[in-house]
Amino acid sequence: MELYSGHINKLIEELAALPGIGSKSAQRLAFHLINMPEAKVKRLTQTILDAKENICYCKECYTLTDKEVCPVCASERRNHKLIMVVENTRDLAAYEKTGRYEGVYHVLHGAISPMLGVGPGDIKLKELIERLHDDVEEVIIATNSSLEGETTAMYISKMIKPSGIKVTRIASGVPVGGDLEYIDEVTLLRALEGRIEL
Ligand code: ZN
Repeated sequence: MELYSGHINKLIEELAALPGIGSKSAQRLAFHLINMPEAKVKRLTQTILDAKENICYCKECYTLTDKEVCPVCASERRNHKLIMVVENTRDLAAYEKTGRYEGVYHVLHGAISPMLGVGPGDIKLKELIERLHDDVEEVIIATNSSLEGETTAMYISKMIKPSGIKVTRIASGVPVGGDLEYIDEVTLLRALEGRIEL
């Protein structure tokens, strides 16, 4: 016998499919939503739809943004000859929070993982190569120190090396497998400052 009505079950199911939401949290959220005033539910739904419809990739660095070119790429105060490669927009945000990085970024939206069937063509690598003109001085690889992140770093290094552009990797002070976004700012800055040439 089903414990709840079909609509509630469906809602719980959808919420439980979100990352980090277990079945208990999904149930709690579902009942919270159902008990919310209708106007609030409508506002939440509209906010989700608006975000989905209006957010796109920055045409230069491929981070998620609501403009054609993100604020970092559009800024003349940033050093456009220095490109830091990160796995996702949250990693970019972690470095931006330090307020000390002056270059621009390139967001891969993933990392190479033979185990999960993610190949070089599935992340924004081709787009990175297209950005490497003569005036790029350094590419800093700041992928995570997980197996996938290291595999990706090695792949990028091999890909860029022939062009003669300097390629560096952030220091391994970043805990193995640690998602960049969970690392404190001091550790991030130390990793950046202690980067080594590949
Ligand atoms: Zn950008």
